[in-house]
Amino acid sequence: MIPVIALVGRPNVGKSTLFNRLTKSRDALVADYAGLTRDRKYGEAELAGRKYLLVDTGGISGDEEGIDSAMAGQSLLAIEEADVVLFLVDCRAGLTAADEMIAKHLRVNNKRTYLVANKVDGVNHDVAISPFYELGIGEVYPTTATHGRGVKSLMTEVLDTFPEQEENAEDDEAKGIKMAIVGRPNVGKSTLVNRLLGEDRVVVYDQPGTTRDSVYINYERNEKPYTIIDTAGIRRRKNVKLSVEKFSIVKTLQAIQDANVVVLVMDASEGIVEQDLHLMGQVIESGRALVVALNKWDGLEDEHKQYIKTELDRRLRFVDFADCHFISALHGTGVGHLYESIEKAYNSATEKLSTNHLTRILEYAVSLHQPPTINGHRIKLRYAHAGGKNPPIIVIHGNQTDKVPPHYVRYLEKTFRKALELHGTPVRIEFKSTD
Ligand code: GDP
Ligand code: GDP
Repeated sequence: MIPVIALVGRPNVGKSTLFNRLTKSRDALVADYAGLTRDRKYGEAELAGRKYLLVDTGGISGDEEGIDSAMAGQSLLAIEEADVVLFLVDCRAGLTAADEMIAKHLRVNNKRTYLVANKVDGVNHDVAISPFYELGIGEVYPTTATHGRGVKSLMTEVLDTFPEQEENAEDDEAKGIKMAIVGRPNVGKSTLVNRLLGEDRVVVYDQPGTTRDSVYINYERNEKPYTIIDTAGIRRRKNVKLSVEKFSIVKTLQAIQDANVVVLVMDASEGIVEQDLHLMGQVIESGRALVVALNKWDGLEDEHKQYIKTELDRRLRFVDFADCHFISALHGTGVGHLYESIEKAYNSATEKLSTNHLTRILEYAVSLHQPPTINGHRIKLRYAHAGGKNPPIIVIHGNQTDKVPPHYVRYLEKTFRKALELHGTPVRIEFKSTD
């Protein structure tokens, strides 16, 4: 499970600035999918190959009625679920009552907290940070979020406290394809999980209390191993007698991160709503393989079915690589076919790609449609090799590669996808300049 780090602090201390700086590398990618709304408050970030989830909990002004209402709802939940809190204060503004209130809340909840004194630029360092020791959090980490000063060393220190993220290939193989069943509340996730497990010849191995978050269910179907990452927590619900689980974005994001294939469940009777698109954005950003399940297809009027299909075309055009299934988890209609798409997506996402083959496809793509000329020099793309799996990363070497325009990247992506017959997985193109 990747670490979850929450940014906490009153408004204007620099949380979004820090958030944007830390998640920056992914921004360009997401911006490419026009029309995709995305929850700015959750993001993936990476430092020296170590991934983590960053959550901006929003501002707390101090004018609210008490800390509880101030940190209500998702913000409070996000803090609860975070492994570590970065508590930001503003060096220019000095220590405020709101800072003290937040500090108290964090102390009471015994959260592992790093006190970050931001906006340390242009002020006397030692004088500016000394009042914040009064908060009783301990060490004060001075930063300038706008320029990145102090940020890397802070994040290194924070991430060093987490165990190494190792890919245990052997272990993974034993448990087969890991699929996360995600979606907003009430779309039918638990019903679907039950259905998937209720299929013929499914053997479920109980694994009590594997993680604090989602429930991991190992099973075999037709003698093939699978793991469902169940964000709805049906097994836990049954055991602990919790009626409804709180919808947790953090839990959902962690499940997406840890999966090979994400099954995104939507409710066809309600249509595609904003929150579905948020989740879709997160799946795409994660690079995981994707299968879309339009649930509750039973009992819909033909006219409504047609409407949903038009909506899918219109709003999900950018995920045209993913299979879409119209199912009824309640009656089981279409559920078995999900496995076909899951297998296909997994195979595409993890296929071994040879340098030879990739380079041939690159040459073909370039011969068909040359990259543009920049300042009189044509961009040269020479060879390609695989840079990773799930998602497949294709690394292209050449010169002036930083000048390759987005439309040409999309063209390459499309050409590789077609030539490699990749289904159900995003493809990432990366460039290395050999100038
Ligand atoms: P948030 O409300 O906590 O998310 O704060 P923002 O990230 O929106 O920042 C509020 C303002 O402070 C913006 O105008 C930022 O440009 C500015 N700011 C953020 N970090 C720094 C910093 O390190 N130094 C200076 N001088 N300004 C900063
Ligand atoms: P979750 O919150 O996403 O886990 O959703 P549940 O599995 O608890 O389902 C929410 C409600 O939708 C329940 O009342 C289910 O019986 C109902 N439901 C689930 N799948 C279907 C379906 O395929 N068709 C219909 N008509 N109802 C469904």
